[in-house]
Amino acid sequence: MDLNTDITYLQGVGPSRAQTLSKELNIKTYEDLIYYFPYKYIDKSKFYKVSEVNSDAVAVQLKGVISKFRMEGEGRKQRLIANLTDETGSMELIWFKGAQWILKSISSGKEYIVFGKPNYYNGRYNMAHPEIEDPQKAKKTGSKFSAQYSTSESLKDAKINSRALVKLQETFWSKVTAPLPETLPGYIVEKYKLMPITEALRNIHFPKDEETLSRARTRLKFEELFYIQINILKFKNEKNAVSRGFVFKKVGDVFNTFYSSYLPFELTGAQKRVLKELRADFLTGRQCNRLIQGDVGSGKTLVALMSMLIAVDNGFQACIMAPTEILATQHYETIKNFLGQMPVSVSLLTGSTKTKQRRQIHESLENGSLNILVGTHALIEDDVKFLNLGLAVIDEQHRFGVAQRAKLWQKNPAAPPHVVVMTATPIPRTLAMTLYGDLDVSVIDELPPGRKPVKTLHSYDAKRLMVFKFLREQIAQGRQVYIVYPLIEESKNFDYKDLTDGYESIVRAFPPPQYAVSVVHGRMKPEEKDKAMQLFANGTTQIMVATTVIEVGVNVPNATIMVIESAEKFGLSQLHQLRGRVGRGGTQSYCILMTDYKLSSDAKKRIEIMCNTSDGFEISEQDLKLRGPGDMDGTQQSGTPMQLRIADLARDGQMMNLVRDAARVVLEEDLSLQLPKNQIIKQRINKIFNKEQNWSRIS
Ligand code: ADP
Ligand code: MG
Repeated sequence: MDLNTDITYLQGVGPSRAQTLSKELNIKTYEDLIYYFPYKYIDKSKFYKVSEVNSDAVAVQLKGVISKFRMEGEGRKQRLIANLTDETGSMELIWFKGAQWILKSISSGKEYIVFGKPNYYNGRYNMAHPEIEDPQKAKKTGSKFSAQYSTSESLKDAKINSRALVKLQETFWSKVTAPLPETLPGYIVEKYKLMPITEALRNIHFPKDEETLSRARTRLKFEELFYIQINILKFKNEKNAVSRGFVFKKVGDVFNTFYSSYLPFELTGAQKRVLKELRADFLTGRQCNRLIQGDVGSGKTLVALMSMLIAVDNGFQACIMAPTEILATQHYETIKNFLGQMPVSVSLLTGSTKTKQRRQIHESLENGSLNILVGTHALIEDDVKFLNLGLAVIDEQHRFGVAQRAKLWQKNPAAPPHVVVMTATPIPRTLAMTLYGDLDVSVIDELPPGRKPVKTLHSYDAKRLMVFKFLREQIAQGRQVYIVYPLIEESKNFDYKDLTDGYESIVRAFPPPQYAVSVVHGRMKPEEKDKAMQLFANGTTQIMVATTVIEVGVNVPNATIMVIESAEKFGLSQLHQLRGRVGRGGTQSYCILMTDYKLSSDAKKRIEIMCNTSDGFEISEQDLKLRGPGDMDGTQQSGTPMQLRIADLARDGQMMNLVRDAARVVLEEDLSLQLPKNQIIKQRINKIFNKEQNWSRIS
């Protein structure tokens, strides 16, 4: 069994499915398939009653009669609805597409097993695109656990749902007769009493029982964290071996002129402290690698800019890299604004920079006439060459991995540039140390003075008119408003519908010419998005209707009200990030969380926490508490900085320590991994971290 075999050759896959699997899940080989882990398990022996459904956080299995098929809505909004009824009540099942196929394969009036995640809508639970099984045909497997794999809308369109993925796993595992190659050295498996890889992988997909599953997870978590630690520690050791870095000797004219004549306000104590730490780093003669944590609105951009001015003062170029185009553009404009007439040249480079412009940028970078380059990850592409890059700032670190940082290092052949990474993700300090083992950590733990904490209020949909009245009053005082709609993962159509319906009703309530409304969502082209953002940023429009695309980094200080529609659908850290978009000037700002009357108990808690605290660290801790143990769902929202397959950085702290020690012992004995017993490690990290080049996936 060669695990590198192309997934196309697995029975039941074929070229078209293979393409979808590769595009959507990055599953290209057998190995990718078996490392695509379930995100949870359903206890198939447990059935919920309709009346017991009380949370939209977990998927549930129900048994009942499906009946009363009907079409509702027109055109784009048309959907198929049916009732699922058991002895305790009934709920609606909804399909936004594939109606023909459902009507053909489901008989009205018959009993089915239905599985899916309930949505709370208009005071009731419904279920969109549930999985449906005929109880007669339901397989009696040995295990009562059934693996659930997360899928995307496009996967479902291609008829690859969780159950289809189970089938593929079955097909694969039915062919496995001999053990697969071990992925950890034997001496480590033995020392830590880990389950052999074949058994662990088989049981992660088809758990024999609870205890075996738990051992399988331990093994796979260990392995995942182990290779991350080996990679970080190796990187750190190698770096220390060649720790030469540029010295920025002076704080010169550029910095001083900016500080005395351009800076529109006093720096906060925390900003000053962090700048001091950076200046000290720049003097050591070693390369600086520093993580700056600061809650939203704490003024990280300014610190970044001022550290870049120090680089410029010392004859070096600097760059700042952001995860999205909107954010890069915003940084560019902020920096241009701050610098005013100062003789510092700044350019913006993103994926959509036109060829001619790009060529000019390349040229000015290479001849040294460009001082500061702002951009997206387009910056790290190979054809972007600097004359002498001295400092690279990375904003919102969690989207970049070690490999991207390493790429930046190579941007100056003389020595690696200093690297400063900035994140608003409030992760506990100890965790940050473990994660970014090679980084020093600074914290901006103070907001600019005069900031009034954002007042957070909870309002029900039924009180919408009062909320609108309040918005009108605020707009009359010259303020601007964000109105955000959720992204509903299960159905892009649904989401789009919510947004467009919302937009239409907002325009009705705030008609032209008195009001102007912008809209931004994920389906727009970058230029359209930027244009809409622009109109809002320069005050042409007073209201911005958006999905969570505006979540990160956007800065419009005059926008003082954030209305979050269906706030119950958002995770805590997402709500916090969104709220961070307001309260950025001196004016009292508001965050209004709109919800339905009836709320699931989890949603109620989230709303309460948001109304009562504004501290990002506290919120991230509460967030962890709310997520159930072993619940891997929602890691996306928890704001941990690395996307892991199975380990949970916040919860697996204990194991992290164990793994760290294991990795340290290995490297102390054999830093360059030459010993025969460590060849497995060497091969493995080459394999894993070459893949990391594909940065959207692992980091
Ligand atoms: P973040 O840390 O979220 O990136 P920003 O750098 O975007 O925060 O800063 C938020 C807002 O606060 C910006 O409008 C910025 O100009 C302003 N700001 C930054 N530092 C100060 C300060 N020391 N005093 C007053 N306002 C500040
Ligand atoms: Mg920022």
